[in-house]
Amino acid sequence: MDTPGRVLAVFAHPDDAEFGCSGTVATWAKAGAQVHYLLCTNGNKGTGDPEMLPERLAIIREAEQRAAAEVLGVKSVMTLGYPDGELEPTRTFLGQVVRAIRLTKPDVLLTSEPHPRLNHSHRDHRMAGLTALDACFPYARDHLHFPEHMRQGLEPHKVGTILFWGADEPQEYVDISAAMDTKIASLQKHASQIRGRDVGEMVRKRTHEVGERAGYEYAEAFRKIEFRR
Ligand SMILES: [Zn+2]
Repeated sequence: MDTPGRVLAVFAHPDDAEFGCSGTVATWAKAGAQVHYLLCTNGNKGTGDPEMLPERLAIIREAEQRAAAEVLGVKSVMTLGYPDGELEPTRTFLGQVVRAIRLTKPDVLLTSEPHPRLNHSHRDHRMAGLTALDACFPYARDHLHFPEHMRQGLEPHKVGTILFWGADEPQEYVDISAAMDTKIASLQKHASQIRGRDVGEMVRKRTHEVGERAGYEYAEAFRKIEFRR
């Protein structure tokens, strides 16, 4: 697909977007796209270290996320700060995602698959994807939903396309061959999650397998929904 002008990635945990779509983000950002991040939880349960406190982990992980975004050329990182594992599709959360859409006006929204059938996925991933999907249509589009945004100077916005990573049957492949080193560098910023593992080898293997299906050396794959204009 063509490089979009504006992109918003909505995701549950620090590192989700780097695993799911950072090759795409880096490729598009380098080609001139304006990419924004909306991080929904603070990732404060993501550790096996019995000495780690959730408050401390949240601070570490936000810093890691901001460093990863900088590597990728992401323009802004907005955070909602929900506790890890407690993301629910509430009216408040929906309004926050709608607000981020009206603020950043994305042509393409990237998020996690809300309805995986073949594999189980983290509840937060499903809740983030589901809420982002609903926010695109119809909530961000129709001005009578969350009318307080209009009073704050935010216009309704029609998202053109939503792309889900982690889908059972993806149909959109993005060639990330030129962005592999950047994707790996962004993942290495999540030191609290990587803990010395060779993330580069793992990611190269996985994205190469995906790429082979589309004739690319390395690719990321998405389920796509296009909204009627
Ligand atoms: Zn996650």
